[in-house]
Amino acid sequence: MAALRARTVLLTGSNRGIGLELVKQLLGGPRPPAWIFATCRDPEGPRAQELRDLASRHPNLVLVKLDVANPSAIADAAKIVEGKLNGAGLNLLINNAGIYAQVSLETVDSEEMIRTYRTNAVGPLLMAQAFLPLLKKAARNSTEKGLSCSKAAIINISTVMGSIEKTSESFFKPVISYRCSKAALNMLTKCQALTYGEAGILCVALHPGWVKTDMGTQEADLTVDTSVRGLLSVLPVLSEKHSGNLLNWEGKVIPW
Ligand code: NDP
Repeated sequence: MAALRARTVLLTGSNRGIGLELVKQLLGGPRPPAWIFATCRDPEGPRAQELRDLASRHPNLVLVKLDVANPSAIADAAKIVEGKLNGAGLNLLINNAGIYAQVSLETVDSEEMIRTYRTNAVGPLLMAQAFLPLLKKAARNSTEKGLSCSKAAIINISTVMGSIEKTSESFFKPVISYRCSKAALNMLTKCQALTYGEAGILCVALHPGWVKTDMGTQEADLTVDTSVRGLLSVLPVLSEKHSGNLLNWEGKVIPW
């Protein structure tokens, strides 16, 4: 299996669930990145204790405060990361943070639609804008041919629930605000791929499966360990032929 050779990685929502497991498995992998920027809303708070414990044992793990729903927090985080990278670029941006609410067409309101859209779709858009100079720098500095996660990539953690073609298979859970926000994230991924490809940046949306986390609940199919192992084995094989697509944790393309 190909190994991920990204030297610098940044993740959002990394204090629990899939984000935290991504940090753990990246740190424990055969070629851990030189820098992992694990961002979360409250790195000093009780919900980031595991992340702080990891940072105390791994000098390549840097905790950065970042609320993806707050544009000025995104800009501040980009400045901190740029300073820490000291002239190097960012190989891999993983937009993982997300929220989910059990609302139907009858119960959803405008506030809930906008709240979820701001985190799940606008957040990843602003993250890519803010970190674009660092991603471009990584692409320019790379000797790799073509597009890859080892060179420069934006990975948007999406879901099959944002696939319009697949909606009827899971509509017993309407989750309207979540579905609409992730359909927007899927569209964003396509637009990013068409725009940023020229600069050498791969853009892919990944569905992690139905995973046992606070969001997925303990009824879910996959352990977080299995899902993240899958995601991390898909990342190294992604290339220009995948850019602008939605794939699952096994690397299979999901129709939009
Ligand atoms: P969890 O609810 O377990 O964790 C969500 C993470 O996102 C937390 O770290 C949370 O931080 C963070 N977060 C939420 N809002 C913000 C924000 N405004 N700024 C920064 N961080 C934020 O979810 P999962 O780990 O299960 O989900 C991770 C991603 O995977 C999401 O994008 C989700 O949509 C996607 N996904 C998950 C599936 C599943 O079955 N679990 C299925 C398909 C997709 P805090 O602790 O501060 O709240």
